[in-house]
Amino acid sequence: MERYIPNKLKNDIMLCNRCRCGFCESRCPTYTVTHIESLSARGRNLLALALLEGYIPLSKTLADRFFTCTTCGFCKEICPLEVDTVKIVQNVRTYLIKEGLYDSSINIISKNIMKYSNPYGKPIEDKSAWSKDLHFYRDGKTLLFGGCVYPFQNPEVLKITAQLLQKAGLKLNYLPNEPCCGYPLLALGFQEDFEDLARKNAELFMKAGVEEIVANCPGCVETLKQYSEYIGKVDFKVLHIVDYLKELIEKGRIQLSHAIPLEVTYHDPCHLTRYLKKYEEPREIIRSITGVTLKEKPHNKMESLCCGGGGGMLVTNPDTSSQISDILLREIQETGVTTVVTACPTCERVINFTADLKGAKIKCIDIVELVNKAVKG
Ligand code: SF4
Ligand code: SF4
Repeated sequence: MERYIPNKLKNDIMLCNRCRCGFCESRCPTYTVTHIESLSARGRNLLALALLEGYIPLSKTLADRFFTCTTCGFCKEICPLEVDTVKIVQNVRTYLIKEGLYDSSINIISKNIMKYSNPYGKPIEDKSAWSKDLHFYRDGKTLLFGGCVYPFQNPEVLKITAQLLQKAGLKLNYLPNEPCCGYPLLALGFQEDFEDLARKNAELFMKAGVEEIVANCPGCVETLKQYSEYIGKVDFKVLHIVDYLKELIEKGRIQLSHAIPLEVTYHDPCHLTRYLKKYEEPREIIRSITGVTLKEKPHNKMESLCCGGGGGMLVTNPDTSSQISDILLREIQETGVTTVVTACPTCERVINFTADLKGAKIKCIDIVELVNKAVKG
């Protein structure tokens, strides 16, 4: 395993095992629902050390410990020693994959991404279908990156995004043969495949003359931002749609002319909040709409609860994932609000699915849909 764990992470593993404070367990979603030490960052760091030093043999049971993590980033955020818990999980996963110790379901995901440019194995024409009636500029320097989840789950969000940005004066580009950003590959540990894909993607973006990429999915944004770390310098910057919306609203290029008398709560997606530190932007956008009242959940911003849908958990551990989403749903219900606004397609899907399953009168919508309602009435 040595060669899969760079020195910085070895050092982090050592640091954690000298400290073992356990702060990371306080709101780890997998630990909260399982109460199993080896499913928390502290427990995994002990297993990582034992693997590094050859104290324990490899087994499928041990491997499963590393695949039961939503990569929500809470442990990394709270760790007093700044141990890079998420990178440790990702790198150990890379080692486990090399050793063949992983679920066959995740192999299909990686194959689909490489063959069909999306993890679901759907035709690429279906992925770009939402863009058919819209006009894009092939020489536009700003690229709208649709990602893989929105096109199949809520393509309307992408349509609205393109319309809002174009109406605000942006000369927007879109690639109909858009590849996957590689998030599932990176999160699940297919690091070599991820690096190959990132190299090809960066070349494609640069050939298209792209200077800036804007995406609605926080997982895509965070992953595209990491390209330079894995493949070296790239010549484009990456923004999340909330960056754009906030600025365009402030400058009056998007006018929120219609009042919406609605009480909402906002759900902070893990990647947007803990990774990208964007928690004030969506709140400012919501507050700028006349009539909308924002009622916070008890855990919000950096402390927000995970929906349970990240890190491949929907595929590798659906039961644990659904226990995690039940807790989030209960917290949403505690607010007494029936509309949840979020800015991530996976969170939206998980919240709506869980609410339907439990018969809860909760509807989760995308922040772009709320803005569009305030623009058009
Ligand atoms: S908070 Fe950090 S140092 Fe403490 S046990 Fe967790 S990972 Fe280790
Ligand atoms: S990333 Fe989230 S789920 Fe994974 S160990 Fe850390 S707190 Fe737990």
